[in-house]
Amino acid sequence: MTNKDLADFLFPNINKTIADYEKEYPARDLPENACVTRYAPSPTGFMHIGNFYQVVVDYVIAKRNNGVFYLRNEDTDQAREIEGAVEYIRHVLEHYKLLPDEYEFRDTKETKGNYGPYIQSERKDIYKAFIKELVEKGKAYPCFLTQEEMDIIRENQSAKKARIGIYGKFAKYRNATPEELIEHLKNGESYTIRLKSEGDFDEKFKFDDLANGEMELHENDLDTIIYKSSTELPTYHFAHLVDDHLMRTTHVIRGQEWMSSIPVHYELFKTFGFELPKYIHTPLILKKDGDKIRKISKRLDPEARMTYYEEKGYPIYAVIEAIMTIANSNYEAWREQNPDANFTEFDFSPKKMSPSGALFDLDKLDNISKNYISKLKATEVFDLLNDYTKEYDTEFNELINKYKEYTINILNIEREQEKPRKDYACMKDVRELIWYMYDELYKVSEYEWKNITDKDEIKNILNVYVNKYYDESDDKDTWFNKVKELCDELGYASNIKEYKADPSKFKGNVADVSTVIRVAITSKSNTPDLYELMRLLGKERIINRINMI
Ligand code: GLU
Repeated sequence: MTNKDLADFLFPNINKTIADYEKEYPARDLPENACVTRYAPSPTGFMHIGNFYQVVVDYVIAKRNNGVFYLRNEDTDQAREIEGAVEYIRHVLEHYKLLPDEYEFRDTKETKGNYGPYIQSERKDIYKAFIKELVEKGKAYPCFLTQEEMDIIRENQSAKKARIGIYGKFAKYRNATPEELIEHLKNGESYTIRLKSEGDFDEKFKFDDLANGEMELHENDLDTIIYKSSTELPTYHFAHLVDDHLMRTTHVIRGQEWMSSIPVHYELFKTFGFELPKYIHTPLILKKDGDKIRKISKRLDPEARMTYYEEKGYPIYAVIEAIMTIANSNYEAWREQNPDANFTEFDFSPKKMSPSGALFDLDKLDNISKNYISKLKATEVFDLLNDYTKEYDTEFNELINKYKEYTINILNIEREQEKPRKDYACMKDVRELIWYMYDELYKVSEYEWKNITDKDEIKNILNVYVNKYYDESDDKDTWFNKVKELCDELGYASNIKEYKADPSKFKGNVADVSTVIRVAITSKSNTPDLYELMRLLGKERIINRINMI
């Protein structure tokens, strides 16, 4: 009996060959230098910031040279699959407008692209054809080691301080004859298929990771599992080989954790004589925790999950921008030079990634976002707020729509000017900063009085102001002059310089008096421009609020 008999016995119904698939998925017709990237998540968990980082890098590298960015659902570990994970990935890609050029969604039966199926569990026959040829050539074999046997091997290796794994003499079925192997198969034993490694651990090879640089690695000599009979699916290593080859990926962008698998992947590509794609192993995302810097954690850090950014209502621009800033060290400088360019116009260089870890900082995100939001028109902020509140705050959504013009006017305070106010980092902030503008929400638990706290004095200031000085139709200068007159009348300095020269001459100054008015009508000591707020609140509401004190 020959290896061919063994291969036929294993896969009797597989008739297509590798050559057939090569024809079916020919080299892509793309411009020179165009890159083909893919996001290849396993739906075993919810998307986190590290995944998103990969997506952004995939996207920017593909778009730069009119390449292709595709999505591949790596669902070979079906036992660990989480319901809704794929739908969520799709949602994130749509939300951030990073939709791939090619993809397939099982639920909606949507598919786009000529290199599918893009779901691994639908590619069983393709993998089998590749494995069948490998078995036929004597480069892979079925292995019947049980978990118990493997545990014993591992214990022995560890006791003798030998390298762990199934290789050389530990690979019990490596040199079995096709007859012997077929005999086991006939008995119905569960099996895996292992690569019959031709590597030598004592030999080294050079490997160039675009982000991490050139490295020298030991050759693989493990008879790695490439297929499991229990699921009829390949392992990640083998699916990576077949899919990235047939889908004509040029750049594999994936997490650091795959770095240790390079020797296996290198050997697999060599065994088939396929060109190795370029690799970018992305850094860990780090965060500052007190004075320590540590890996961001899905368990400990809410910002590690992508849901965080939507729940807070960060503009998509800001989140992508924050990622680009940590992904390439010269991005910020480029952005300064090109404030209005799309991030895909940036000439992304994997060499300018930081392999040792990318420090993600929420303050930085807030800054980027505040800057961005401050430059939007009030109507644009309203639209963002409307979208956000529709999903996350229906009470506020009703209010802002009921008083739409009023809300836009509030959002317009200190906007569209040379130095706009930068107070909203995300849409969640908006309600927290302007709730007092809506009577429906105006329930004061605490007035933030500052220097003047005496209730009688506060009431006196407000009474005199309302009865003698306040006139709804005043322009800003007149309004302010009247506040100053009020100060003069009540013994407060209307001029700060004079006050500073001799504070003992005054009960306080114009800032203290303005604060009393501000707090009386909003309860807050820090608000946008008081004149504008008063103009929008209007006389009746102002008087009502003053009477509430
Ligand atoms: N399915 C693998 C993972 O989620 C993908 C790694 C890769 O991009 O090749 O880690």
